[in-house]
Formats: sequence, structure tokens, C-alpha cells
Amino acid sequence: MKIIVTGAAGYIGSVVTELLIAEGHSIVALDNLAHGHRTAVHPDAKFVELDLLDAEGLMRLFATESVDAVVHLAAEALVDVSLRDPGLFFRANISGGINLLEAMIHHGVKRMVFSSTAAVYGQPREIPIPEDAQKNPVNAYGESKLAFERIMAWYRIAYDLHHVSLRYFNAAGATERFGEFHQPETHLIPIVFEAALGERDTMKLFGSDWDTPDGTCVRDYVHVVDIARAHILALHQIDDLGARAYNLGNGSGYSNLQVIEAVRKVTGRQVNVIQADRRPGDPATLVASSDRIRQELGWKPEFPELDTIIETAWRWRQAHPHGYAE
Ligand code: UDP
Repeated sequence: MKIIVTGAAGYIGSVVTELLIAEGHSIVALDNLAHGHRTAVHPDAKFVELDLLDAEGLMRLFATESVDAVVHLAAEALVDVSLRDPGLFFRANISGGINLLEAMIHHGVKRMVFSSTAAVYGQPREIPIPEDAQKNPVNAYGESKLAFERIMAWYRIAYDLHHVSLRYFNAAGATERFGEFHQPETHLIPIVFEAALGERDTMKLFGSDWDTPDGTCVRDYVHVVDIARAHILALHQIDDLGARAYNLGNGSGYSNLQVIEAVRKVTGRQVNVIQADRRPGDPATLVASSDRIRQELGWKPEFPELDTIIETAWRWRQAHPHGYAE
């Protein structure tokens, strides 16, 4: 297939592109490079620098590239920023997404795999979280992703859009080639690495008084390669699926303290931790039930173990001490 991957210069987009190319697909890699990195774009993909708010640019792109499907990962995605600047999120993730849908439909492209998030659920009432759990986002990021999932359903009614939403829990890990690198970094595992490497003296642990076994937040870490594989499975079956949403997680939660301990073990290094206040917008526990994707798409994580996930991330970090920085 010929596929447009939006957000292809981002962490997950780079790995999705890598696996799609390995499967023999032809990829148009679209990114505005606001958060992504040019060097994270696979060399065999055709790179197009474009912002999803450029509706005319999107129309021109779809007119020149005759594609079979879109994998849509481009987004504003930092929870705390979304609390301070919700408009940024609604413009990028909703308006930008609508521009993308309009260009697709105008050019007869009716297959969409969408990168959604556990943040659509908010503070869950049941753990592990099934897909049909109540959705009450506690930040504008989750709200924007949920809104776009719902918008796509109307494009199905009007235009027979086939759409699969993959609700990622916490992506982690790396391939040999591509890994996690943000500037500034906000995600737990790369920040613990920075502390382990002495690039920062200490790291802050946001909240130790949550209603969890050790008082720190619990998350479900899923290897980025397993996430990428889910996109491929979804693309294979999207014509039969119509419209579907799937959680992508391992089904087991690790607390922030357990993650820090696992990094200490894998790296053999010291990590200095200071207790800090809770980070606004954080749910206490997010653990997925991924029964649906296992049963319906035959997805099975290849790297379910936290230590393995951290080992792959650590290997990439050591091979790329400056990440994607020029
Ligand atoms: N976290 C932390 N210190 C940091 C960064 C993150 O304690 O410097 C915590 C954060 O509050 C959350 C967990 O680590 O409880 C995972 O955060 P991350 O930003 O990696 O992912 P999220 O779950 O927000 O998608």
C-alpha cells in the first residue's frame, strides 16, 4: 500500500514508518517538525514538511500522492501544556484532523488508523480499563483526542470512512534505529535515564500520595514496536472492521517508583530522586485491558516485560547520546 503517515518524525511515528517500510509499503512521511526531528524520518520514506492546519497544502498533497490509507499520529501531546493552552490542542488535534479528513474524503481515501490515547478515559472507575469504559478526560489533550474519535464516526456515516483508533497507554522502548527524544523531555523513562547519566543531578517524582500501592502513579508501559505492529494489523483488517477502537497496553501496571528501580537495575547506575507535588492532569492509575485487540486483531506484545522495554530504550540512548539533536 501507499500510506501517508502524519507525525512520522515523532517517536512513535518514526517506528511505525520503519515497520511499514520493512513490510514493503511506500510511505509519505508528513510532519511539521514542531516536535519531530528530520533525522527521525526513515530515509526510504518520502518526507513532506507540512502542518495539518494548512488545509490547502493537504489538498495539494492528496492530489499529487495517490494513497490507499492514512496513519495519523501527528498531534500536540503534552498533558500539562494542554492544561495551560487548550486552544493549541483543539486547533492542532481537532481542526488539523478535520483538514486531514476533508482532504482524504475529497480524494477518495477512506482508510484511517488514528493514534488515540488512554487519556480519553480520565480517572478510570475500573482497572484494567475496557474500551467501553466511561470517557471523562481530565485534560484538554484527552478531550481533543476523544473529540476526534467521535468526529471520525460522523465521517463514517456520511462518507463510509473506515477508521480504527488505537488508544496508546505509555509508549516506551526503542528499535536499533529510532527511539524517544523530546526537547524538552517530560516523559518518565528518558528523564530517569538523564538522571542515571548525570545529565541532571536529580529527577522529580510527581506525587507520592496517590491512591496506589506505593503512593506513586501507575502506568501500563507498552513497547513502541508492539504499538507499531498494532497499526499494521489494523491496516490489514481495516476494510472488514469499519469503525473500531482498541486499547494498546500490556495489562500490567508499574508504579513510578518501580520504573525508577527498573532503570537503576538495567543501567547499574544511581538515580537521585526528589519528591515533588503531583503534576496537574495526571490520573492515578492507567492500565489497559487489551483483550479486544488480542481477540479481534490477534495482537500479542512481543516485549511485554518492563525490563526488556527499558533495556531497548537504554541501548538506543547509549548509541545516540545526543538523541536527534543536530
Ligand atoms: N513523572 C514523574 N517525573 C517526571 C516525569 C514524569 O514523576 O519527571 C511521572 C508522571 O507524573 C506520571 C508518570 O511519571 O505519573 C508517567 O508520566 P509520562 O509523562 O511519562 O507519561 P503520561 O502517563 O503522562 O503519558
